[in-house]
Amino acid sequence: MALKVIDTIYIEEEIKEHPRTIDISSKFKDARVLTIGKFGELFNKKSQSFRLQKRNPALILAKKAGRCVLPAPKGFGIGGHKNYYFSHMYNCLYDCSYCFLQGLYASADYVVFVNYEDFLEEIIEKSEENPSSVKTFFSGYDCDSLAFDKITGFAQYFLPRLRKIENCEFELRTKSINIEVLKSMEPIKNCIIAFSLSPDEVAKTLDKKAPNIKRRLDAMKNLTDQGWNVGLRFDPLIYSEDWDIMYSKLFDKCFEIIDNNMIHSVSFGPLRFPKAMYKKIKIDSPREKLFIGPFEMNNGTVAYKNDLEKQMSDFCQDQLSRKIGKEKIFHCVSDVV
Ligand code: SF4
Repeated sequence: MALKVIDTIYIEEEIKEHPRTIDISSKFKDARVLTIGKFGELFNKKSQSFRLQKRNPALILAKKAGRCVLPAPKGFGIGGHKNYYFSHMYNCLYDCSYCFLQGLYASADYVVFVNYEDFLEEIIEKSEENPSSVKTFFSGYDCDSLAFDKITGFAQYFLPRLRKIENCEFELRTKSINIEVLKSMEPIKNCIIAFSLSPDEVAKTLDKKAPNIKRRLDAMKNLTDQGWNVGLRFDPLIYSEDWDIMYSKLFDKCFEIIDNNMIHSVSFGPLRFPKAMYKKIKIDSPREKLFIGPFEMNNGTVAYKNDLEKQMSDFCQDQLSRKIGKEKIFHCVSDVV
């Protein structure tokens, strides 16, 4: 997807002279540049419409204050003893109907935190705590890890440095086919490029602005041919009348195209929203097909009916176990933090 031109860039006073700020803003020569105090004063303002902003998001360059690396939500993991996540960016170029970011944030503007060095320092600190325990760090929780990479230079900065932290694994989760930067490097054994996938028909309707499934699978194949480890992420599982046939077809296609030996892990997880988030998204997008359900509310969480959710999970577990070793399959049931 060609990047829509950014009209406005807000820059926090404190990082105005940061080399990464200068580099990123130089990529949008015609943009109006405004200096701000703390990004939160703008980004968290209540009186804004996520949907309206999504049509023409501004770019906010900021410094991540406080903790850069956080514990991943319970139930989120691919085999490590400890799981963390970090977000160098908030919001995404794509516009998936089920994306929780639209319920989480008041604003659709892209926030990029330019102090990558602070993120790395914290990752290294965490990696040194109890070094024998396997830790996994996830990127792509509050954004797509690669979709904006030509602007942010995220992969170029982080990957060669993460390669050296051998006792940890790093997942970059994406729907992007923007893999040139990865192809220009030697594959990194402790980095997993994890692609989110849905049946074709579902992705066509719900994964708005994201590359189609064929292009994602081609990108994965391309990477595995070069020696990169990949992850398959069927999360969230989406219900439709023929969901079982569609998922079965998708699994067949994935395992036909991607060499099993290059698949680090396969995970799947249910669609779930905290009640308030669900309400906000539904009000903002009342005609969205996703909300046909059938949903129910359980302990403050909106999800597919219990028996349906279980049926879908059992089906995936069973089908995937026929394709790849059970030790590589993870059922992730996590609620949004
Ligand atoms: S790719 Fe991920 S982060 Fe981006 S809109 Fe879709 S669900 Fe949200």
